[in-house]
Amino acid sequence: MKVILEGWPKHFSDTPDSIKPLYSLGSHFSTDDGIITFDDKIYIPTVMRSEILQRIHDGHQGVTKCRERAKSCVWWNDLSKDIANFVEKCSHCQLYKRTQKKEPLITTPLPDRPWQRIATDLCEFQNNHYLIISDYFSRYIEITNLKKNTTSMRVVEAIKTVCARWGIPETVISDNGPQFTSRQLKLFAVQTAKTMLRQTDPTLALMIYRSTPIEVTGYSPAQLIMGRQPKTTLPIHVKKLQPEWPNINKLKEKDRETKKRYEHFYNKRYGAKSLPELKPGDVVRVKTCHDKIWSSPVNVASETDQPRSNIVQTASGQLRKNRQNLQQNTGHTDCHLEQYQNRIPETNNNTTTDVASPQPKKSYTTRTGRRVKSVNKLDL
Ligand SMILES: [Zn+2]
Repeated sequence: MKVILEGWPKHFSDTPDSIKPLYSLGSHFSTDDGIITFDDKIYIPTVMRSEILQRIHDGHQGVTKCRERAKSCVWWNDLSKDIANFVEKCSHCQLYKRTQKKEPLITTPLPDRPWQRIATDLCEFQNNHYLIISDYFSRYIEITNLKKNTTSMRVVEAIKTVCARWGIPETVISDNGPQFTSRQLKLFAVQTAKTMLRQTDPTLALMIYRSTPIEVTGYSPAQLIMGRQPKTTLPIHVKKLQPEWPNINKLKEKDRETKKRYEHFYNKRYGAKSLPELKPGDVVRVKTCHDKIWSSPVNVASETDQPRSNIVQTASGQLRKNRQNLQQNTGHTDCHLEQYQNRIPETNNNTTTDVASPQPKKSYTTRTGRRVKSVNKLDL
């Protein structure tokens, strides 16, 4: 105030340390009825800044809007940076922060043979539950109507029936539950299945799907799993119904190229962005697709053998979570933290994607000798 009233020192070196950063901006300052102004804005002294930041952020708007709101009223050096810091650390905003962008798609190479790696999924359609099993090699789909019974015994029974037909797979990729987060799988097996179930004759639709060439491989699922084309409703030359096995190397090459293209489009379409890896001890918030808000902070316990997957320590035990559902906690300020304290997003018991496991296992083996891995993506 004194320098404004009496004029700034001629030399920078004569300026008191506390206001040195403002020296070059001296001409913008003036006083108005005992208040320091900066051009037409009110200058806020250091002691009042945290309160003003709080007010700037009233209504919990984002950084850009807060800056706009502040810009016309108040000023101090570093105002813009302080707003960003404050908003970043607001616990309320962290709870309601938007779901993170998708991570770039990871696709996996085509397996070496049919029914080597399969995916299972449960979906609900018109009050019935369905088990969808799909083969990574052929994209062959098996649909079992479980009616209302989704007990693990019934699911295992249904899987065994399908495996009686095709044999025991090397790897089963499951997502343990009705809520499949993976867009790929939805796009692929579940969506395909639902399209069929919606029709008046789902079994006909299934036969047509299985006998129609798939773009990625150029062959029909039936051809790739049985080595022959089934006779369907369209007239077909008997020669085409003879067993014939495609060239596996050419097949793999075509699959690789198509997947590469698909990855490219996927990443572009969703603006996919890699999230930084988390280390044990990192503080994170959790939000799955069922949660409206991010949880209160929890700790990362460990990594898993799967990419983009971490074990987090919560009050109710350890849970495996996808990296996309974990947001790095940037610290918290004041706002209404208490009311959310200890709140972990609710999940459906027993059927979540989370595997409560104190020791993350690479895979486990079922009674029938299948190796079961828990992965969240079915790559196309
Ligand atoms: Zn906020």
